[in-house]
Amino acid sequence: AAMRHLPYFCRGEVVKGFGRGSKELGIPTANFSEQVVESFPSDMSTGIYYGWACVGNGDVHKMVLSIGWNPFYKNIKKSVETHIIHTFKDDFYGEILSIVITGYIRPEKNFDSVEALISAIQEDIEEAKRQLDLPEHLKLKEDNFFHLPEGKTVNNH
Ligand code: ADP
Ligand code: MG
Repeated sequence: AAMRHLPYFCRGEVVKGFGRGSKELGIPTANFSEQVVESFPSDMSTGIYYGWACVGNGDVHKMVLSIGWNPFYKNIKKSVETHIIHTFKDDFYGEILSIVITGYIRPEKNFDSVEALISAIQEDIEEAKRQLDLPEHLKLKEDNFFHLPEGKTVNNH
């Protein structure tokens, strides 16, 4: 169920999350709106994925993404959050984020401590970086999807 829909193309506005303090952990996650999340296949597994991301018509960067249960909606709705593996000068709330999800890393997990959570995410990031250098994932970085007009919302290819 995790891999069936991949590669998965998605584009939407970056909205305010629910302040879990991702940025304070050094791992900010750009959240998609509820509407974009609802457009995801309902049988796409929660968990950690990786792929490519681009803000507005900027450069395409590696990313890790979580599809998780959204605590703000008492875990009956999902959230989709993208951590772009790049250091940005400024926040980009309100901008259009384009992503292609190319691979799956692991299911969602609970961690006993913030330290354990951070080190798991660091491992996810290293895994994503390695996988994305392989030809089958690297080729999607150059996909035409990233060069389509910004305003156009495309949730599937
Ligand atoms: P929120 O709860 O509002 O999502 P976060 O702490 O997760 O807050 O921070 C997310 C915001 O940080 C994004 O919406 C974006 O504007 C900004 N940001 C800066 N750098 C990055 C990055 N490398 N990846 C994702 N978001 C980033
Ligand atoms: Mg976030």
